[in-house]
Amino acid sequence: MAKASKPERAEVYRDHRIQLVLSKFLSGEINKIDPVYDSKYGYRYPSVEALIGDPIATEEILTRLYDVGILKRQVFDKTIYCPQCNSANVSIRYSCPYCKSFYIKKSSLIEHIPCGYMDKEDQFKNGDKLICPRCHMELSKQDVNYRKAGIWCSCNECGKSFDIPVPSHFCRVCGTNFTFDDAIYRDVYSYTLNEEIMKEVGAGFILVAPIREFLQSRGFTVESPSFLKGKSGTSHMFDITASREGMTQSVLVIDIATSKDELVSEQSIIAMFAKVYDVAPDKAFLIAIPKMSGNGGKLAELYNIKLVEAKNQNEAIKALEACMIAEAIQVPK
Ligand SMILES: [Zn+2]
Ligand SMILES: [Zn+2]
Ligand SMILES: [Zn+2]
Repeated sequence: MAKASKPERAEVYRDHRIQLVLSKFLSGEINKIDPVYDSKYGYRYPSVEALIGDPIATEEILTRLYDVGILKRQVFDKTIYCPQCNSANVSIRYSCPYCKSFYIKKSSLIEHIPCGYMDKEDQFKNGDKLICPRCHMELSKQDVNYRKAGIWCSCNECGKSFDIPVPSHFCRVCGTNFTFDDAIYRDVYSYTLNEEIMKEVGAGFILVAPIREFLQSRGFTVESPSFLKGKSGTSHMFDITASREGMTQSVLVIDIATSKDELVSEQSIIAMFAKVYDVAPDKAFLIAIPKMSGNGGKLAELYNIKLVEAKNQNEAIKALEACMIAEAIQVPK
């Protein structure tokens, strides 16, 4: 269940790194974020790191997305970290309960069922066969004429025997020995998208990141969200603005309007026109997902707002590119 309110989540969506991660979910490139073990760092999320850049920021962003209810999580594993140096490169040591040495020998206890003799497996070993030391019969079929009766350990240091060793840990990086009492013991999660939340939000926030990437890849300087001051002195917010040196049309403004129903209302065109009239950018584009209403289309033409209609993110980028080219804006590959 979502733990944060809608405005709190809206704040989170403003983070470009988050837009990027969520856009990969929406395009189907990522369905689940699974951790991958790395002996140096412990678990990492390479699919998200590829977008964000470093493991610490990745963890922070995933936790934030979970906290506001955008991502769901499931426990994938638990990891032990060294209390001294925080490394995950930690081994487990089964130790002697008497002298704490980890130099112990583990053997199986075997019972020869017909004669009832029980001893350590070593005592039965005879070449690659198992022979009963008491009655000299061969033990051939496990669970028929013999059975494993448990585990028996002996300590190479103090010579004592025991059946349950005590686990302890050894840090392979700094050499610290520690027990569970001192260990840092953390949950490791896999993450999936909370579909409910994404329906609530609509595609608008999420579309910004891929469009921004596309424009940057074509040499534009991009701002999003972007605030431009109009003739009236008022600042207006656009979802994206793009500009490029040496371009005839120097400032492009882009807004995104989405609708859960069939058609985007003409209200979005009217709202954009008010801003465009004041700011007077060189070109204004409105991306309508999935389709603009008939009246909206007419208004867009009247107000000289270039309408880009698309069903999803990939279509939106292609349609925007086609529209820019039609407007004689150079979009070099
Ligand atoms: Zn350590
Ligand atoms: Zn011992
Ligand atoms: Zn026997």
